[in-house]
Amino acid sequence: MAGPEEFVVTPYEVRGRVDYDRLRELFGTQELTAALLSRIRRLAGGELHPLLERGIYYTHRDLGTLLDAFEAGRPFFVYSGRGPSGPLHTSHLAQFELCRWLQARLRVPMYIQITDDEKFWSRSGLTREETIRWGYENLYDILALGFDPKTTRVFFDSRSISALYPLAIRVARKIPYSSVKAVFGLEPSTNIGWIFYTALQTVPCFWPSWAEGTTVPCLIPCGIDQDPHFRLTRDIAEGLGYPKPALLHSRMVPGLLGEAAMSTTGATPDNALFLDDPPKVVERKVRNAFTGGRATVEEQRRLGATPEVCSVWALWRSRFAESEETFQRITADCRSGKMLCGECKGLLLERVHRFLREHAEAREKVKAWAESTIVTAPPSNVES
Ligand code: SF4
Repeated sequence: MAGPEEFVVTPYEVRGRVDYDRLRELFGTQELTAALLSRIRRLAGGELHPLLERGIYYTHRDLGTLLDAFEAGRPFFVYSGRGPSGPLHTSHLAQFELCRWLQARLRVPMYIQITDDEKFWSRSGLTREETIRWGYENLYDILALGFDPKTTRVFFDSRSISALYPLAIRVARKIPYSSVKAVFGLEPSTNIGWIFYTALQTVPCFWPSWAEGTTVPCLIPCGIDQDPHFRLTRDIAEGLGYPKPALLHSRMVPGLLGEAAMSTTGATPDNALFLDDPPKVVERKVRNAFTGGRATVEEQRRLGATPEVCSVWALWRSRFAESEETFQRITADCRSGKMLCGECKGLLLERVHRFLREHAEAREKVKAWAESTIVTAPPSNVES
């Protein structure tokens, strides 16, 4: 959606300086209020995840209804996914970090969808072998965040098609072509895979209800740019007898080069920190990152810097300041001029190097059980 303020946010493009309050109005989503956050805090044992505490998740659809049901004893499940076209970067982790936290704190199941088929249809430069390979690489990275193998299930589309298809055909019959065309901007030359894919992406939102023969609410944490995808799902849910999935939307993590989101193309790989970047590359990217600092040291000491426009501060905010105390101290020292950008980047680099080292070890370990999470058959108790 393009706003009059000249920012663009669609499922496939985020551009310009996004006015997130205006975007919420344009999309018609609801504010994530202090009252809702305090309900989550209480249910989670007294703490909030930093992504919630620091306002990165900021709007929702029907979260209150989902929490009402949960407090009344009706469990929900969490769903998120990844279109595998290349390595993950740190901002991809935001949605999965929150999912993992919800799984652990609220003891709810997690469903992950790896849409290797969608990436094959939408990226003409990728082969089937590549989308499958990236699917596994991305899955290892996601599971390595600490998902519980006992309550995590994965739909790896091309592997899980016999599990998805019986429900996908029911879903597909409810989605008008005109709706898919409007959301995805399909052209006469678009391949037909894109059209059917919407049905496949909808299936996990309803799968537990289908499997259990009851209504199981679904929560989808996602970037707000993905909201249009799930509006389609919500539109058809009740017609199939399933609850509309609730959504929790995040702001985009800005890119290292100062762009609106940490997305990359082949031309701007330095806009993001990839999980497989070698230490020297990480060092170069962070040292060259766009900041909110002043032109001279003297000015910065005297006037302070502006964290809100700084890509380094965005990294502290989204994942690398482990505690609220650390985050508040960094923000205050930046604003007052006590800390200069070089020192700040050095501190961040220590955290990033440590995270990438520990993450690489964790991802090796999940390879032993990742395959066991992939769903390959429809539920045994339903007519397929
Ligand atoms: Fe960004 Fe750190 Fe510089 Fe502040 S001190 S503008 S947070 S790099």
